[in-house]
Amino acid sequence: MERFPENELKKLLDELGKRPPITIITHFNPDGDAIGSSMALKLYLEKLGFSVDCLFPSPFPPYYNWIPRVAEAKVYTEKDKQSFETYFSADRLIFCLDFNHPSRVNQLSEFLTNSKAKKILIDHHEEPSSNFDMCFSYPGSSSTCELIYDFMMRYDTSALDKDIASCLYTGLLTDTGGFQFSSTHPSTLHMAANLMEKGINATEIYNLAFNNFSLNRLKLFGHCISNNMKIVEDKKLAYMWIDRRTKTKFDIQDGDTEGLVNYPMKVLDIEVSVLFKQDYDKIRISFRSKNDVDVNKIARQYFNGGGHINAAGGMSKQSLDETLAYFESLIPTIF
Ligand code: 5GP
Ligand code: MN
Repeated sequence: MERFPENELKKLLDELGKRPPITIITHFNPDGDAIGSSMALKLYLEKLGFSVDCLFPSPFPPYYNWIPRVAEAKVYTEKDKQSFETYFSADRLIFCLDFNHPSRVNQLSEFLTNSKAKKILIDHHEEPSSNFDMCFSYPGSSSTCELIYDFMMRYDTSALDKDIASCLYTGLLTDTGGFQFSSTHPSTLHMAANLMEKGINATEIYNLAFNNFSLNRLKLFGHCISNNMKIVEDKKLAYMWIDRRTKTKFDIQDGDTEGLVNYPMKVLDIEVSVLFKQDYDKIRISFRSKNDVDVNKIARQYFNGGGHINAAGGMSKQSLDETLAYFESLIPTIF
């Protein structure tokens, strides 16, 4: 599908032509693509003279501290709730990046939904909701970073510098799992090459994004794979869980469980991997699959979530045991 078709792009450029103050917002628990696309767009629009505020609904993992000027992003906290309302005033233009539904910005969803400002969605998740004034949604794309790059190429190519390229490369790399997923298209690799030509250090970004474990995090992964994993061989399924006690035992930090769900996929015959993580008030669930097993559908239908065909997330308000029992009861029908 052609991205940013001429007539739609023109509407966006007309809005930018009014030189509004800009808000950029992304999903809670922001990952490499959410942080990378948001910071890239912030740096880029600031270079073009705009005033830009970038909001994260929850903290980002400390291993993304190196992202250029990420400290300038405003991280939501309950006690500053009211001060965040100003970023949703009617005179603003709000870019919504890397999410498809207002509920994905958690506590800020009320401000976002009620805002009279124009809201621009740029995203690659399936089935975006209708809360946005302009919708640039391309689910087959590798990453929101690839879409932001496309936008930059159509708007003003000269502002793309090394820092912006580093932000974009981070999301491109992480959302494709290091260019392994089927969302990696020729356009993805052309873009990677162009970013390298801007002088980014691709090896260093790979190490910062993927080879950044604390020893505890490595031990947590080993523990879960050894003790908290079940295999359903005839369904080519693996599922794992992390309970609160395990979290405490390994002193795990925000983002430390990121990536664990991918490990069972290293077994050739495993096609689906599911991870259940016990939070203080809910269970968060991550789904991964190979080939045409559609985990977006499963997350959406049974676990209040969504995402992509091969990577999705959801949640449950029941206890960990109840959630696992419910999931086990679904196995015969959904896989
Ligand atoms: P993860 O398992 O890494 O948290 O999420 C996998 C993918 O599914 C990501 O692209 C993420 O944005 C999306 N995702 C995760 N949780 C949810 C959810 O609750 N709702 C929706 N719509 N997408 C989700
Ligand atoms: Mn993404």
